[in-house]
Amino acid sequence: MVSRVIPVDPFDLVIFGGTGDLARRKILPGLLRRFHAGQMTADSRVIGAARSDLGAEGWRSLIREGIEEFAPALAADRDTLEAFLERLDYVSIDATGDGGWDRLCDLMRPGAVRAFYFSVAPSLFGPLAERLHAHRIADRESRIVVEKPFGRDLASARALNRTLAEHFDESQIYRIDHYLGKETVQNLMAVRFGNLLFEPLWNNHYVDHIQITVAETVGVEGRGDYYDKAGAMRDMVQNHLMQLLCLIAMEPPSRFEADAVRDEKLKVIRALKPVRPHHIVRGQYDGTPSAPSYREEVGNPRSFTETYIALRVEIANWRWSGVPFYLRTGKKLRARHSEIAVVFKDLPHSIFEGDDRPHRNILAIRLQPNEGIDLTVTIKEPGPGGMRLTDVPLDMTFAKALGNGAEDVPDAYERLVMDVIRGNQTLFMRGDEVEAAWAWTDPLIAGWEARNDVPKLYDPGSSGPDDAMMLLHREGRRWRDIRA
Ligand code: NAP
Repeated sequence: MVSRVIPVDPFDLVIFGGTGDLARRKILPGLLRRFHAGQMTADSRVIGAARSDLGAEGWRSLIREGIEEFAPALAADRDTLEAFLERLDYVSIDATGDGGWDRLCDLMRPGAVRAFYFSVAPSLFGPLAERLHAHRIADRESRIVVEKPFGRDLASARALNRTLAEHFDESQIYRIDHYLGKETVQNLMAVRFGNLLFEPLWNNHYVDHIQITVAETVGVEGRGDYYDKAGAMRDMVQNHLMQLLCLIAMEPPSRFEADAVRDEKLKVIRALKPVRPHHIVRGQYDGTPSAPSYREEVGNPRSFTETYIALRVEIANWRWSGVPFYLRTGKKLRARHSEIAVVFKDLPHSIFEGDDRPHRNILAIRLQPNEGIDLTVTIKEPGPGGMRLTDVPLDMTFAKALGNGAEDVPDAYERLVMDVIRGNQTLFMRGDEVEAAWAWTDPLIAGWEARNDVPKLYDPGSSGPDDAMMLLHREGRRWRDIRA
């Protein structure tokens, strides 16, 4: 299926941290894809900024290598790649210094949309915002994009919000949670609010429970310094899993529009009940004869940081009262597998004699791999032998259903960067949302710190600690399999 591409307005996008991992691995390959698709017009420009003294040619080489490494299929079209690289410029700037800003100012063209991507450590957000203003590079129409982590607790998130608010209006601030840019996550909204079918069932009368799983096979991968101070709760739950929870649980917004959607998400976060200690399971991956344990990897033999967490969460409102939401995320698990599963209640009564197995419909929204949706339905087993029933998935893998190759499913970053240029904040987090998420998270972390809770060890390649299985087993439920 050929999708219609509407070009965005010409833009000047400045990427602070343009030499960094995120820029090379995600942002620039994403922009190249949009250029390739004709959405980024030829008169738009991307300006890299970092301390390294590279010059435009040096940065282009770095980005060319990044694209060859991280997006080889894109790099194969040399003509488009070179045409894209011509749109790139570079300025050497220290976010905390005064050199380079005048040159950046000269590069900005009147009339083009101005966007500034802060792909740097959060400690540099303030200095960048201040200097963009002082040098009159940003105007009232400009946008800034800020990366996670947005604070490490409520106090630091508030401080960051205040700093940004000194120079930019909330309507100019785009807080990225790249999960919101995933095609399936947006499809979650399309499925919920574009079909009549699900809404009547989307409540505590019909839903038994909901599972949200984000399982990774990788460990901390050189991010040990940061990760050991964060852990799975701060790194994944407070932002990504919370956003998924909001989208699955929120009331229908009146319009698919930034504040209407974000108001509804905020209500969900504010309705979250405090989580009881026995509804939290923290784990940490152990070592094997051939692979180091987490503690060895981060060089901290007494680390109590969790690389796995499972939680049983409840939402105190009419729609969801009594419905548990089980969230789990972890590193070095059996497979890379992320999904949201809405598990409906058992049939009240079976009319089929001899059919004593429970049948339940499950709507599973797969985020990775094979983005798609499947709905488990009960049908008759084929063949003679009476009415024997079996459960089968109605599978819609997007790449297959839409006739695309998997590589045609757009990456989250390319969608989100184009939204910034379009001025559409729907898929970005508002300041009050982030603060509310921290307000819910902080007491949970403070609780286990006060209890000196030690994470349970789990084997790499497993499904996590046994205690996490018990979280559901003791309520007569079970986690869905983590499988590739
Ligand atoms: P990185 O590889 O360490 O890159 C940091 C970038 O910041 C480099 O370009 C560096 O270039 C620049 N920089 C450092 N100090 C600077 C200064 N004083 N003034 C100007 N530029 C400076 O980090 P990253 O992985 O790209 O991550 C960037 C941000 O995105 C971080 O906030 C991170 O938490 C977030 N993030 C990253 C990922 C990811 O997959 N990598 C995912 C989610 C969020 P110079 O040394 O040349 O100045």
